[in-house]
Amino acid sequence: MESPTVREHSGERLFIGGAWVSGENFLPVIDKFTGRPLTSVPTADEELVEMAVRSAEAGFAAMKVLPALKRSEILEKISGALREAADEFAAGIIAEAGKPAKFARQEVERSIQTFKFAAEEAKRLHGETVPLDAQGGSEKKFGFYHRFPIGVVAAITPFNFPLNLAAHKLAPALAAGCSVILKPSSLTPLTALKLAKLVEASGAPAGAFNVLVGSGGTVGDWLVSHPNVAMVTFTGSAEVGKQIREKAGLKKTLLELGNNSAAIVDETADLDWAAQRCAAGAFAYSGQVCISLQRIYVEKSAAKPFTEKLVALAKNLKVGDPKLGTTDIGPLISEPDARRVEDWINEAKAAGMELKCGGRRKEAFYEPTVLFGDPSGCRIGTEELFGPAVTVTPYEKFEQAVEAVNSTPYGLQAAIFTRNLNRAFAAFRELEVGGVIINDSPSYRADFMPYGGVKESGSGREGVRFAIEEMTYLKMAALHLSE
Ligand code: NAP
Repeated sequence: MESPTVREHSGERLFIGGAWVSGENFLPVIDKFTGRPLTSVPTADEELVEMAVRSAEAGFAAMKVLPALKRSEILEKISGALREAADEFAAGIIAEAGKPAKFARQEVERSIQTFKFAAEEAKRLHGETVPLDAQGGSEKKFGFYHRFPIGVVAAITPFNFPLNLAAHKLAPALAAGCSVILKPSSLTPLTALKLAKLVEASGAPAGAFNVLVGSGGTVGDWLVSHPNVAMVTFTGSAEVGKQIREKAGLKKTLLELGNNSAAIVDETADLDWAAQRCAAGAFAYSGQVCISLQRIYVEKSAAKPFTEKLVALAKNLKVGDPKLGTTDIGPLISEPDARRVEDWINEAKAAGMELKCGGRRKEAFYEPTVLFGDPSGCRIGTEELFGPAVTVTPYEKFEQAVEAVNSTPYGLQAAIFTRNLNRAFAAFRELEVGGVIINDSPSYRADFMPYGGVKESGSGREGVRFAIEEMTYLKMAALHLSE
């Protein structure tokens, strides 16, 4: 194989086959608050993608024969190294993603745990015996199955959680015995390259983890259509998810896509708690979270007090420099995105929704916004906003609220706030989503729980154990006993 170091030189580099490699072209990475360049990163051409696939094949050959204990130790080391470098990672996420410090630190803490959970799960991969003698003609057969790693995994990630979403693909893949080629978002590639340094020091075989930077339309596309990639695990928008599904052919795909999350608040709910959690769910990281709360349906009798509490909380949020520990709302990822949010909110106002607070943009910043009324004919009511705004809509009957929650093409997570156990269970049964959160915001996620969507929110499940299942296949053995 060609040495992966041939194009090596100083500055940021790509990580291929355990070596740091440069490229011909470079991409500037911008500090999303100051707008100044942080550095530039080489982008991969087709030759480097080819090199990464060959390295990942070698990495897979080494990974698949590593004992579970060794795979677990590698993951423990990555988790420990991440803890030691937590401040540096948080600072990087604040700069390249514009994520306020409190949320950037949370993301690093969660990622440490994601690797830790994977270190534990690596020891639990197992199969079952199958009583083949139950079938006539198979009386002398004994059966069992076991899980085997699927092979080279291409992981494509979005800008909003540059560390933990990479961790949700890399950690289960290493636990399963797969190798990974990660293509992070071009907006936030630095965290992924920093993570590669920890993997390099962890004792993972060369080629077990590779990081390529470049646009989705080129590097992403080459990876998705490469015949030697066994699986594509993608987190991002539904639009790109559909393109990937079309290009991937018969490869396995795991798609974690967008949402238009909703919560139901009935009159029995603790309204102070509900308002507090809804504010957190709607405005954290300026709503740039796939399970960010976008629509709230409140039982008519509770709508006025609930809205007053929510508006008071929204008005209290501090907009400003994401580096400051006190900042709640930083910039959106780009000014065009803030303009899009502005357009959608203007559309909702023109359709008759009442602006309760917020509603103003300054450059890439958008104020936390609450709209009151019926959003059903507007984009904010049906599509994914990815911005700091939420709608509040009164309802008369619980069934109407359920129907409204289910009325969008998405189905990732939804929530209900209630003290009525039967209603909570009815919501669990009737809501068409991958997760129902009871008495907390739909943006709640623990990193080991099964997580993923239905409808246009995707297919397959992440959450360490569940992602390992996706990245392994069951192999059956049938043994003929001659005596
Ligand atoms: P995006 O535009 O869909 O991009 C996601 C990734 O896909 C990026 O790395 C992008 O590369 C790449 N990509 C773009 N076109 C591609 C193609 N044709 N083939 C292969 N890869 C391609 O999403 P985003 O704006 O970064 O992130 C926001 C979206 O992610 C939202 O919809 C959000 O709901 C979703 N999300 C979902 C979850 C979940 O777990 N369900 C979690 C977080 C975010 P470049 O951008 O570098 O070109």
